[in-house]
Amino acid sequence: MNNPFKVNEKVLRLSEQAQDMTMKIFTEIDKLAEINSQRVLGAFINHRIGEAQLQSTTGYGYGDTGRDTLDKVWAEIFGAPSALVRHSFISGTHALTVALFGVLRPGDTLLSVTGKPYDTIEEVIGLSGSCGNGSLADFGVGYKEIPMNASGVDIPAVLSAAKEAKVVYIQRSRGYSLRNTLSAAEIGEIAERVHKTNPDCIVMVDNCYGEFTETCEPCAVGADLTIGSLIKNPGGGIARTGGYIAGRTDLVELCAYRLTSPGIGGEAGCTLEQNRSMYLGLFLAPNAVREALKSAVFASAVFELMGYEVFPRYSDPRSDIIQSVLLGDSDKLIAFCKAIQNSSPIDSHVTPVPWDMPGYSSQVIMAAGTFTSGASIELSCDAPLRDPYAVWLQGGLVYGAAKLAILKAAEAIM
Ligand SMILES: *Cc1c(COP(=O)(O)O)cnc(C)c1O
Repeated sequence: MNNPFKVNEKVLRLSEQAQDMTMKIFTEIDKLAEINSQRVLGAFINHRIGEAQLQSTTGYGYGDTGRDTLDKVWAEIFGAPSALVRHSFISGTHALTVALFGVLRPGDTLLSVTGKPYDTIEEVIGLSGSCGNGSLADFGVGYKEIPMNASGVDIPAVLSAAKEAKVVYIQRSRGYSLRNTLSAAEIGEIAERVHKTNPDCIVMVDNCYGEFTETCEPCAVGADLTIGSLIKNPGGGIARTGGYIAGRTDLVELCAYRLTSPGIGGEAGCTLEQNRSMYLGLFLAPNAVREALKSAVFASAVFELMGYEVFPRYSDPRSDIIQSVLLGDSDKLIAFCKAIQNSSPIDSHVTPVPWDMPGYSSQVIMAAGTFTSGASIELSCDAPLRDPYAVWLQGGLVYGAAKLAILKAAEAIM
């Protein structure tokens, strides 16, 4: 067999074994992508997307049909009445911040039901960072969290706390933890029971990394708001920046007021030639997620065969594109990230080093040899330098290329 990257024999054998193990799962992933691609196509057809929507505006951006129609297409695909999709969300954290500040008011309580939220959200809530920086806590918004237990979300504890909460906050993906990701069905069950207990409670989902990993999205199963980043799954590797908020019309409007100004909301905001890439990215997204899921499943099988503990296992159901591998020591972790970086299409010649990244509480090392800076729908991995020295691997726009990088990482830690 030709082997231009000179992957060592032992790793090649593991690769073949992993390929055999994952064949059936790959077929299921193909089926998933087919269903999601057709849902996306249907929304494009229903909303008669044409050349006009691919153009864009400058200045105030009044009447930008590309922007307004993308909101509608997005809403349909995400099973929500409304959506706000903007390149001017600088990241997922920004979109989540806008959503939290959009709907919470002084005296309200935010209830996280999936334990400690993603690192960057801690400072937004006011759990870390300096007093007086404009966090939710500064504005008198209370916070409570309910840790997850072995069986997942602690529903009885959630229902009792939800009586006093304005927002029940669900983080679908694991972030930098080793808990299970929540499926759409689990999110639906939580939403239904919370709404039964407290009909006014807003169920908000951090949907980062979850988009298109199942055949429906959180709003379709009862969540009130769902939020994510366009340099992850739904940007398809094409959107250059941006984020989205989808959900109940009144709530999305409040978020739009917070993003721009009360009264203006989503009716202004020019699109600066981003419409075309946002539409194309959305169209390609189910395919990008397919490649990313295959990469994650393959990596899981390879590192399990090497004796490492992996989350999730290759055969486990998935609701996000993340694969973690417990490497157990910092040298292996750095070698792993270096190998991924060196096998990337962009910046393969650079060496990643751990650094104090803004918003994160310990040093982080990241490999991201990406066309879009920091885009984690492209093959990338990151890890905080702390026990248990686990690495989080995600993305892969092209499975064949990601596979090679995974094999190189396996070689590096052998
Ligand atoms: C990526 C991510 C975010 C937002 O991170 P950004 O880097 O700001 O886009 C929030 N929550 C989770 C679970 C994430 O994976």
